[in-house]
Amino acid sequence: MAWWRENNLRLVQINMRDIDGGMDVDKLIAELKEFCCSVVMVGAGGISAFYPTRLEFQRTSPWLEDRDLLGEIIEKCHREGIRVIARFDFSKTHQSFFRRHPEWYYRSEDGRAVPYNDTVATCVCGEYQQERALEIIGEVLQGYPVDGIFFNMFGFITWDYSGNYYGPCHCDCCKKRFAEFSGGKELPKTEDPGEPDFREYRAFQEQVVEELLGRVHRLVRSYGDDIAVCTYHHSDVDIIRDESNSAVDRPLPFWLYNSSSNVAKVRSSWDNKIISNCVINAADLFYRFSAVPPALTRLRLYENMAEGSGLDFCIIGVFEGYPDQDSVSAAKEVFRYHAEHQEVYGRLDSLAKLAVLLPLSRRESPAYRGVFRALKELHLPFDCILDARAAAEPSLLERYTTVLAPELGEVLPEALAAAESASKKLVLLGSGEMDGEMQKRLGLCRTGEITENRSAYLQVEPSNGLEPLEGRGWILLDGSFARYTGWPGTLPRVERAWFGPPERCFGHRLTEDRGLLRSPGGHVLLPWDLGGLYHRLGYSEYREMLGLVLSEVSPETLQIGGNLPPQVEAFWDRSGDGFLLQLLNLTGHHGVTVEEPVSLSGLWAELPGRLEVDRVLAGGAFTAEAGQERTKVSLDRLEEFAAVLLKEI
Ligand SMILES: [Zn+2]
Repeated sequence: MAWWRENNLRLVQINMRDIDGGMDVDKLIAELKEFCCSVVMVGAGGISAFYPTRLEFQRTSPWLEDRDLLGEIIEKCHREGIRVIARFDFSKTHQSFFRRHPEWYYRSEDGRAVPYNDTVATCVCGEYQQERALEIIGEVLQGYPVDGIFFNMFGFITWDYSGNYYGPCHCDCCKKRFAEFSGGKELPKTEDPGEPDFREYRAFQEQVVEELLGRVHRLVRSYGDDIAVCTYHHSDVDIIRDESNSAVDRPLPFWLYNSSSNVAKVRSSWDNKIISNCVINAADLFYRFSAVPPALTRLRLYENMAEGSGLDFCIIGVFEGYPDQDSVSAAKEVFRYHAEHQEVYGRLDSLAKLAVLLPLSRRESPAYRGVFRALKELHLPFDCILDARAAAEPSLLERYTTVLAPELGEVLPEALAAAESASKKLVLLGSGEMDGEMQKRLGLCRTGEITENRSAYLQVEPSNGLEPLEGRGWILLDGSFARYTGWPGTLPRVERAWFGPPERCFGHRLTEDRGLLRSPGGHVLLPWDLGGLYHRLGYSEYREMLGLVLSEVSPETLQIGGNLPPQVEAFWDRSGDGFLLQLLNLTGHHGVTVEEPVSLSGLWAELPGRLEVDRVLAGGAFTAEAGQERTKVSLDRLEEFAAVLLKEI
């Protein structure tokens, strides 16, 4: 089995700068050993080469002099049992090549290139990325026994490091290839989904990227089956990379489940790829020398591991002299824990009965994040499946009883059809379009959409399955709402009325529209943006409503009972012959700050099966009291992270 398939990476990436050409490799190795690091990612080639290249279109770091730094790192790491992934960045070259090969580079619609400091951005369609990049990779594979290759900023890049946006590339290669792809069309001027050829352009981009990744993969495999291909894409990639990163201009709300979500999306969507989610130490690209708080670094790393991946951590440059040592020490703590218990990790089998479908083709939406957060806070085990994967391989849905779509209209109809054909219970959220065929199969008819609901509400009625929410009365509705006929419903929409001066705030009327529709076959539709509202506003009624709906539709999805507060993230998996319960204390998060969590006492979780404690891996004293069919697992005190292996009695 290829080495990465063990899924227990403890990866440390040093983002090498030219000046690191003179680094002390022995000091690096000493630091990596403190991490119990199993894989290191180091700079190899592309913008700068860290070995003596013979290729005229690659510039070596001027600080390298005659040194073969890559060779020295690989030799010394391998001696210590540390694998090495060679990092490349073909998205730019030194500006000196621009004069000789202007055709390699990105061009805006008006023909401008994108220089940045002393580099210039290349285009994925151009000869440099299509041909020269493969020669560079080939030179490294030929000369060095690397264990994997990674490339940064792969694909169509339309922005620079200052965040300036330049639009779709209009270089001659893009023009020619898109014309061939589209039967003679011109490139779209913007990436606005409203552009007439937007979808075709997206399909073209995917084809270019996938074709090139296919060639890279074949090249790498020609040097051996044990060399991993890794980048931020899935096609022909062995280790899909993602990041938990931070940015000073990032919009709120703060996304606490960044690592869990990044891992979850890949973990259950492929069985022949692993995810390595890099916990970026830096506060931003602009602030690579100041780290996020140590507690946030640990939280993200614990989520990586607890959700079913290995560990991955990155700093700029070398450790020696790096200003923020606190975050480095924090990362080491989690790495050491993983090293002690790696036999338990890497082979976690999901026990989830609920699958959440999300689009492969776009970024996480507020609707998805709201649902993700709600399910985590309900301690309801769930997996995330990318829609294109469910559509291509419906067997991925086999293990679940229930499939939830957080955002109708965004999920591929083929994925929903696969779930419906496999007789899964469906929980459908959102006001987006539902495929006509699916409406027919479900006995539904979408009759319209009300896009303006500011000051509208949903009224909780007595005896409608939402009794615990009765005291809330009217629940805030904002955004769009879709009307359907076909299924009986409850939760009537209260029409918007005047909302000006208090003297005029009256006149709301109940409508015939229903916010919760139930099919005779046990499916549920909430045709409004429950997830997005929860993400934006955080009012617990949205979460509670989702929990009530799921407990009605598929009570088997609610496997973890007890008194865990929403601020504890619980992970429940099978590990080998036993079961692994992991609890992560998120109370250190308040506002936009993440610091040391507040310790919690007297926690207990009720779990399915008759279980006893096998081994405590982390945290305090766990005890288990088995009942007839369920077991009460108690923990006297939760500091930051606790984990216990349980076995059947
Ligand atoms: Zn181009």
